[in-house]
Amino acid sequence: MARNQNPLISIVLPVFNEEEGIRHTIEILESYVASQPEDYELIFVDDGCVDRSAAIIQEAEQQYNNIRLVQFSRNFGHQLAITAGIRYASGDAVVVMDADLQDPPSVIPAMVKKWHEGYDVVYGKRLQRDGESWFKKASASAFYRILHKFANIDIPLDTGDFRLMDRQVVKVLSKMDEPDPFVRGMVSWVGFKQTAVEYERDERTAGTTKYPLSKMLHLSMNGITSFSDVPLKLVNVAGFIMIAIGVIYGFISLFTGFATLQFAIFSMFELFGISALMLGIVSAYLYRIFETSRERPLYVVAKTSGFERHQSEVKH
Ligand code: UDP
Ligand code: MG
Repeated sequence: MARNQNPLISIVLPVFNEEEGIRHTIEILESYVASQPEDYELIFVDDGCVDRSAAIIQEAEQQYNNIRLVQFSRNFGHQLAITAGIRYASGDAVVVMDADLQDPPSVIPAMVKKWHEGYDVVYGKRLQRDGESWFKKASASAFYRILHKFANIDIPLDTGDFRLMDRQVVKVLSKMDEPDPFVRGMVSWVGFKQTAVEYERDERTAGTTKYPLSKMLHLSMNGITSFSDVPLKLVNVAGFIMIAIGVIYGFISLFTGFATLQFAIFSMFELFGISALMLGIVSAYLYRIFETSRERPLYVVAKTSGFERHQSEVKH
């Protein structure tokens, strides 16, 4: 497929309290951009920062005319910050990356090259994760493998949100109003020609992770409930197994007189425990329906800046 030979590429960066490192990120990206043949715009999404991040980005806006800023009214989360950034991007291709330089800009030319070759999505596949805890690496690896097995679409392994997407893909994504989105799954769902470039994930240049365990679990649950019905099937399987055990045990006690109070009490706790767990699984899916039925806006934008300096063909 022929690509625009003089394209504009948008880089979308979600930002949540990154005051320690954001200036450095901007410097690195600006020097990268200056060395490239394509035009670039940098779209920062301030996801309700309560530190100086937004002020630092606004300062940089005075200095560089390719910086745009979208400010949320509060913290809506990484995935929604990406969603908004993509919608405000006007590039022929859109790159999503972390604002902490864990996704190295030096990988972007390889992504752009694949894009010129005709690929519509080029995602970064992590070879190594420097400077992250043993627990984070192990849990992330387990999550990607479980999701890969369970999901009803092919979500690539060890892939975060660092990727390049063609405008055609961005157009479709922008129309998907899913509350609590799992963006990387949605990109797989969209389809088109997708490929990977491998890269080594660097350490954070400054600050600490903005993804505590609670947010990681929330993201994993969203990934599973929006792309798989396997847990619901497991509920059925568990039900059948319990019924079978009950029947077998009933026969055994009938013919042997084997029944102890302790065992009965133990089974009761087991049964209530398993039932509560199964109810929890069903409720997780139910909650997604509830969220969708409310039809609230996905996020609230308080302010934008930097866009007036540029042509706009932006949704919203
Ligand atoms: N982030 C965000 N909103 C949040 C949490 C994180 O916009 O609620 C941003 C954060 O500033 C960073 C990116 O999302 O640019 C990824 O977060 P982080 O680097 O903390 O995650 P990790 O790389 O540790 O998984
Ligand atoms: Mg990071």
